[in-house]
Amino acid sequence: VLCNINQFWAEGSLEKNNALVEYLKQYGVVRTDKVAEVMETIDRALFVPEGFTPYTDSPMPIGYNATISAPHMHATCLELLKDYLQPGMHALDVGSGSGYLTACFAMMVGPEGRAVGIEHIPELVVASTENVERSAAAALMKDGSLSFHVSDGRLGWPDAAPYDAIHVGAAAPEIPRPLLEQLKPGGRMVIPVGTYSQDLQVIDKSADGSTSVRNDASVRYVPLTSRSAQLQDS
Ligand code: SAH
Repeated sequence: VLCNINQFWAEGSLEKNNALVEYLKQYGVVRTDKVAEVMETIDRALFVPEGFTPYTDSPMPIGYNATISAPHMHATCLELLKDYLQPGMHALDVGSGSGYLTACFAMMVGPEGRAVGIEHIPELVVASTENVERSAAAALMKDGSLSFHVSDGRLGWPDAAPYDAIHVGAAAPEIPRPLLEQLKPGGRMVIPVGTYSQDLQVIDKSADGSTSVRNDASVRYVPLTSRSAQLQDS
């Protein structure tokens, strides 16, 4: 028992993580039990580098000019995608960074589903793998339903396509065509589109393959770009 308590404090605090989720509920961004539950299960502290505050509602640097998104953005995207993250479904997380959202996706689609994180910085893929290993999603990575890959996310990841849910965690000047192609009819993509100022766009593909687009919010994300461009101004 003592051992478990020590581990509990060493690896963050589920109590504080729950308080963050409670705050997001009161703030109105966490609206459903499903999203609250997954955010309570995946402790944000495991995904934020030491020396930064995991439980405040802001993005935090994770190195390589990348950030872990703010909790309210994670919550917003989970709420927008929750119906497309049912058990057995396939989800793609482009620009997986810390791995936080990929881990949430994996918990929601479960062992019969697939959650794929694509990230073009190899060091971040190593870090996200270690983060997940300490989290409640560890078993899903071990059994292969959750995986991270070093690749250019603008190309998607055809191996596990088509996807019910596609999330892009970096801002694209326009929607990359391969991502649209890898979206399943009946599926949904959430992607920040724009350069300096961006709209969080929600793209729904209907059964006949046609798409509808709406803007959900104004947002600020790091750019979806080439590895060399991203590392240039570091
Ligand atoms: N959802 C992540 C966000 C990380 S920030 C989180 O909350 O942790 C956006 C990430 O996109 C960065 O890690 C960056 O390295 C990555 N990225 C940017 N352009 C990319 C590209 N072309 N292919 C893959 N990853 C990319």
